[in-house]
Amino acid sequence: MKIAFHDVYIHPLPPDHRFPMVKYELIPQQLLREGVITAEDIFTPEPVEEEVILLTHTREYWKKLRDQELSYREQRSIGFVQSPLLTQREITIAQGTIDISSHALENGLGFNVAGGTHHAFADKGEGFCLLNDIGVAANYLLDKQKISQALVIDLDVHQGNGTAAIFENNASVYTFSMHGAHNYPFHKERSDWDVPLPDGITDGAYLQQLRTALPILVNKVRPDIVYYLSGVDILETDKLGKLKITPDGCLERDRLVFDALKRHDIPVAVVMGGGYSPRVKDVVDAHCKTFSAGIDIYGQ
Ligand SMILES: [Zn+2]
Repeated sequence: MKIAFHDVYIHPLPPDHRFPMVKYELIPQQLLREGVITAEDIFTPEPVEEEVILLTHTREYWKKLRDQELSYREQRSIGFVQSPLLTQREITIAQGTIDISSHALENGLGFNVAGGTHHAFADKGEGFCLLNDIGVAANYLLDKQKISQALVIDLDVHQGNGTAAIFENNASVYTFSMHGAHNYPFHKERSDWDVPLPDGITDGAYLQQLRTALPILVNKVRPDIVYYLSGVDILETDKLGKLKITPDGCLERDRLVFDALKRHDIPVAVVMGGGYSPRVKDVVDAHCKTFSAGIDIYGQ
């Protein structure tokens, strides 16, 4: 098992406390305590190389990020004040997603204890996302000819608008996003397949939609790898999400995804995405259950 962990944190916390950075420290601690993983499973990625970033992002945007030249307006749209530390964190997260993808291709499963920065576009960041880690990783594997087809299963409550736009004209990466119809982003991009969900949807109807979609996706796309964005902001306790999914429903979602992929021996790289329940324990528990479910089903 390989789990990318990032030891660069942004302190002090950004003024917008909706973004609970602390979860990224608590998730590995809890997984170790519960014996789901061992210390040897965890690694800290190197920064991603510039030329790899440029397979996905424009040179102009990357230069702004690297040289701290984002305008006030661009920083507002991202939701963070720019800093070298923040850029450093993003470039190790992107490399983490590359590393866990490579591990998944060889061993079936890999996790990034961060990532899922799906609101980052090729030429701009927004919604707490600067670089699109799935975009960077999938383009890297395609460029190295390690894969010819990827599938993104984005189950964060927010639409994967950046990912959809990045791969809009690229048939080698199929984007699937199931998200709150009335959640941010208010202007949605076009994924290859979008499933907008009504406010207040509960476990039964939610899981039924997913149960229907998964076999269709697997058979139609026949991916060499899946990127699973397992945001837990679908929970009823979430401050930003408008759905009403219970912790059990969230775990069942994860199990459905892993079961459907394992049945066809499809490698899966899991990235965390969002989670904004007021009690950080709810967020950390739900993320940790994603790890347990994956490790259980993939038998690692
Ligand atoms: Zn989200």
